[in-house]
Order: sequence, then structure tokens, then C-alpha cells
Amino acid sequence: ILLGIAILFSLVALVISYYMSKKAMVPITRAFTRQREFVADASHELRTPLSVMLSSINAMEMTLDLEKEDYSHKLLFNMKNEVKRMTGLVGDLLTLARSDSGTIELVNEWFDFRTIAEEVVESVRALAEFKQIKLHFDAPDVLMVNGDSQKLTQLLYILLDNAIKYTPNRGEAQLSLSVKGKELLIFMKDSGIGINQDDYGRIFERFYRADKARTRQDGGHGLGLAIAKWIVEIHKGTIQVFSEVGKGSTFIISIPIIENRN
Ligand code: ADP
Repeated sequence: ILLGIAILFSLVALVISYYMSKKAMVPITRAFTRQREFVADASHELRTPLSVMLSSINAMEMTLDLEKEDYSHKLLFNMKNEVKRMTGLVGDLLTLARSDSGTIELVNEWFDFRTIAEEVVESVRALAEFKQIKLHFDAPDVLMVNGDSQKLTQLLYILLDNAIKYTPNRGEAQLSLSVKGKELLIFMKDSGIGINQDDYGRIFERFYRADKARTRQDGGHGLGLAIAKWIVEIHKGTIQVFSEVGKGSTFIISIPIIENRN
């Protein structure tokens, strides 16, 4: 009888705890959904005033006497940089909020990845030249890939931008694209500051910056690699990093070229 009562009690306790946990789960899931929606809505709403501010600053610049390097120029220059930085941050937040809610559709299209990569390399060349960084690029003459061209362009931009940002003056950066079997391989190598092994996993987390003081001065906000990882994962690929502090880093991405991802 005692054993029966004990079993009965444990069964009742089990059922009660099951219902309690289910009840608690619902508000938590709802709270997450609400938080996600809030971030998406807030980022979306912030885009318009930011673009109005940027065009107003551009208009103000035109009214200033460019011959005179005065205090107003300096203030306007700072304002413009901060507005641009915030526009980037808001755009990244919106991308991540949408990625969380699964509302971004992956476009499956065939395109020549070499042409796209060349354009991205050219768009950051001035940045590299400013730091006297040698920028190398190699890829097969034609590199047909099946995937979302816009998102893969963003992925390359994030990798190249970081390679230049975290490489001191007169360093080198190399982007190589190749095909191995049915995989597209992207190698992004730099001779920069490198990443501590303890940070390998964490750099892909949102808002994580290995060296906060440095990245703040370089204009980063710690969302680039989180977006890069998401882009790779929705293409069913993998992203890895190998690095040596003070010597440089290599990011290796492997993405299946032909796959039905939806
Ligand atoms: P951020 O906007 O700070 O660059 P990311 O998400 O792109 O944000 O990168 C996260 C962190 O990873 C950076 O703050 C930096 O510490 C480190 N990191 C990324 N790429 C490199 C690189 N090529 N070399 C050295 N450190 C890097």
C-alpha cells in the first residue's frame, strides 16, 4: 500500500510539474517573440529619420565654404560619421531580427560569384589603399554558384571589411575563391592583429568584440560575424577561423554549390 501511495504521489507531482513547466514556457516564448518584433519594428522605424539626417548633413555640407577648415566642418564630419555608423547598426539589427523570426526568404539563383566578388573587392580597395594594405584576389575565371547572391555579397563584404579593419598599415589581405567537389570554398586571409584562440567561438556572437577599445575606434559594433555565420548557415555551409595573435587570421567558408535549401 505504501509503495502504491508513493508511486501515486510521484505521478501527481510529475503531472503538476509538467503542466507548470508548459505554462511557464508559453509566456517565455511569447516574450521572446515580442522582444524580436520590438527590435525589428524599432530598427525599421529608425531607418527613415536616419536617412533624413544624412541627407540634411549632406545638404549642409554643400552650404559650407570648403576652403575654410573651421570648427563647423569638424562637427559636421563627426555627425556624418556617427549617423553612418548608426545606419549600419540599425540595418544589421534589422537583418538579425528578421533572421530570428525566419521571415527572410532565401533566394535560390545561379550566378557568377567571381563577378560579384570582384565588385566587392573593388568597393573596399580605396579603404585598403588608404592603409597601404596590399589586397589580393584570386578565383576561377567563371564561378557559377547556386545561392542568394545578395546575401553572399554581404558575407564577402563583412569578411573583407574586417580583414582591412584588423590589419595594421602596410599589411596584406587575400580573398581566394575555389571549388572542391560540390563545395564552394572561400578563404579570407589577412596579416592582421589575429584572434586569441579563446575568442574563436565568441567572435560569432552578437555584440562580441575581442578588443572593445580598438573596435570602437575602428567603427565596429560586433554584429558582422553574427550575420556572416547566419548567411553561411542558411546556405547549409560552415565557417571556421584559424589565427595567430600578431600574425593574422584566416576565415574558411565552405558552402554546397548545388542544393535545394528551401
Ligand atoms: P566588428 O563590428 O566589431 O568588427 P564582427 O562581428 O565583424 O564585429 O567581429 C567580431 C570581433 O571579431 C571583432 O570585434 C574583432 O575583435 C574580431 N575579428 C573579426 N575579424 C577579425 C580579423 N580579420 N582579425 C582580427 N580580429 C577579427
